[in-house]
Amino acid sequence: MTQMHQVLPTVQEFVHRNHMHYIHGQWVPSVSGQMMDDENPSTREVLTRVARGREEDVHQAVQAARKAFQHQDWQQLNPNAKGVLLWRLADLMDQHLVELAQLDSLDMGMPLRQAQYGTVPMAIDHMRYMAGWATKIEGSTIPVSAGKFFNYTMRQPVGVVGAIIPWNFPLLMAVWKLGPALASGCTIVLKPAEQSPLSVLRLAELITEAKFPPGVINIVTGYGPEAGAALVAHPDVNKVAFTGSTEVGKSIMHKAAERMARVSLELGGKSPNIICADANLKRAISGSMLGIFMNQGEVCSAGSRVYVAKEIYNQALEQMSEYARRLKVGQPLDPRTQMGPVVSAEQYQRVLDYIESARQEGASVVAGGDQMPEAGPGFYIQPTIFSNVQDNMTIAREEIFGPVVAVMPFDDIEEVVVRANTSPYGLAAGVWTENVRTAHYLAHRLDAGTVWVNAYHVYDAAAPWGGFKESGFGREMGHYALELYTEVKDVWINLQ
Ligand code: NAP
Ligand code: MG
Repeated sequence: MTQMHQVLPTVQEFVHRNHMHYIHGQWVPSVSGQMMDDENPSTREVLTRVARGREEDVHQAVQAARKAFQHQDWQQLNPNAKGVLLWRLADLMDQHLVELAQLDSLDMGMPLRQAQYGTVPMAIDHMRYMAGWATKIEGSTIPVSAGKFFNYTMRQPVGVVGAIIPWNFPLLMAVWKLGPALASGCTIVLKPAEQSPLSVLRLAELITEAKFPPGVINIVTGYGPEAGAALVAHPDVNKVAFTGSTEVGKSIMHKAAERMARVSLELGGKSPNIICADANLKRAISGSMLGIFMNQGEVCSAGSRVYVAKEIYNQALEQMSEYARRLKVGQPLDPRTQMGPVVSAEQYQRVLDYIESARQEGASVVAGGDQMPEAGPGFYIQPTIFSNVQDNMTIAREEIFGPVVAVMPFDDIEEVVVRANTSPYGLAAGVWTENVRTAHYLAHRLDAGTVWVNAYHVYDAAAPWGGFKESGFGREMGHYALELYTEVKDVWINLQ
């Protein structure tokens, strides 16, 4: 059952290593000596074991990051040299792109072709984009009226960053935090998700090879309530950068408030995707199906509520079901696979429970709706489409984080705006129309950090990303990300 023969020898060798924490540029075991299992979701087998970090390990890593933050090797490194380091790391990631893609695919079930041609290249682009920013973090001069003063601002690094990331895009989520934090001159302690630490641990080796000063980047593996909570509570962490569920995000915000640590939160979503009557239906169907089924629906911005104009509803539903039935679900390392297994037994059960709740509440399955043992021994679920969904049903309100979509008809634009915005979340939204007025009108009205028109799931290092409402706050990517990792200092010089 093992899939190890399908990956590069370097990946095989890496996976089977004894995985420790990466602190001050060294591999360090947990103080407790404890390890945790890391599973392959497409076989349900234990892939490898990884150090189980706790408070004492986090403390060591934070101390290393603090020391590195104050050390001249980092403090006095000029912006150009910082940019070169980031660029060198991006080059190394590029050289090892297939390895990194295979690791994410093995570890969390992402189809290899998505990892290799989508998310890992995106992580590399992001690192390069942020390398460019290292030399462009500027202040401004301010014309003050208070007297004869020269007033100017500068942006200084916020200090030691504690970064906590989810399992759905392991390498990409790490780089979204590392890039801007390092370009800004911060140092960082990163805790990857328990389900998918491997690509980030491999990245640590590339960080050493790129010759970052020791302690600038540290990685502690472990469980959220242990290693994650210790990082949030540590008095020497100046800023917590979190991506994950809204529930955990809220608890992090509470804890960080006690010592006024800076916080940025990239949280969950229940994104509406609106197909208007005048849409190019072919594009709208394939775009909307990518919008929900990409990465098994384990995407914060998954378009999980599809609203279709009632004139074209039946036709659209039929084409969507056809698409779902044709989707190639299978072993993630198979280059033909379009959708892999969900990440874990827990997530598998959660998604199946949502499917069951939808049935119980009266929705109708038009495609899928079940587990999928024929795809393999892993946590496979059929691409699932529900019709007859009411806005107040559980599947129309809660984030499922799996391959399940509710498709609902609408009558007019004003009605669909209200329904789309009736959600505690506000991460992303999709609009499909050939009418430019409708496109801009909906883009203005929807409560979402990102609106895609005639597209879904497009991302770019230069374009800001983040949520309205309970989808969090702060914007990662683009120059906005630098605001999360810098403090503004204002200086007054008396000219009299
Ligand atoms: P999660 O359960 O909130 O976990 C996220 C991270 O937080 C993991 O590393 C987790 O560790 C850690 N954690 C858990 N409890 C913690 C605590 N008490 N203190 C500190 N850290 C803690 O989320 P998930 O299930 O991994 O990821 C799915 C969620 O992420 C979805 O809601 C999704 O929408 C969201 N997401 C948002 C974005 C965005 O850009 N807005 C992007 C991707 C994902 P463990 O791994 O040990 O649990
Ligand atoms: Mg895993």
